[in-house]
Amino acid sequence: MSVKKIVIASNNPGKLREIGRILEPLGIEAEPQGNFGVPDCPEPHVTFVENCLAKARHASAHTGLPALADDSGICVAALNGAPGVYSARYAGEPKSDERNNQKLVEALRGEADRRAHYYCIMVYVRYPDDPTPIIAEGAWHGEILDEPRGAGGFGYDPYFLVPSLGKTGAELPQDEKNAISHRGQALKRLVERLKEAG
Ligand code: IMP
Repeated sequence: MSVKKIVIASNNPGKLREIGRILEPLGIEAEPQGNFGVPDCPEPHVTFVENCLAKARHASAHTGLPALADDSGICVAALNGAPGVYSARYAGEPKSDERNNQKLVEALRGEADRRAHYYCIMVYVRYPDDPTPIIAEGAWHGEILDEPRGAGGFGYDPYFLVPSLGKTGAELPQDEKNAISHRGQALKRLVERLKEAG
């Protein structure tokens, strides 16, 4: 089987490891865009899919390779989907999980509707102007708590309760979280769609 090289539009070592491990059995070698000196891509859009597509096209244009990008965040029903694409920097720069969580808890104080979902999208383009990008997404539904629980995970996990499990994202072991999370779902679908596309 010939190995196909693609560029990953991310420099996050954890994500790169996870994506690389999942793509390897498909004969795909994933290299981070940092290895090619790809500059940061502007993410001016209000939807995950638009920003993700922009990142994938940008990485492909700078490398001449097929490219895979991902984007994720949390959307809160009572806040009309905020923080959404601004999840990482919800409380401004420099980005801080602690300040983001404080801001979220404050925004929901006294609010009865606690529904939220994490969302993850992955976009694969064969070339920058690929008219049929492969797109896979995942959503993980839960509720926002007032008080943190658990020491695992990252970001909003200590405040994100999964009602069916009675646990927050930060109380789940990493492999249990990966099996059901927005990112786990998106990765699984991406692999299926890459296989279908050949
Ligand atoms: P990015 O896709 O790595 O840019 O992540 C965007 C932001 O969304 C992160 O910085 C977190 O604030 C939030 N986020 C995305 N996925 C998760 C998750 O699995 N747990 C907690 N926070 C997350």
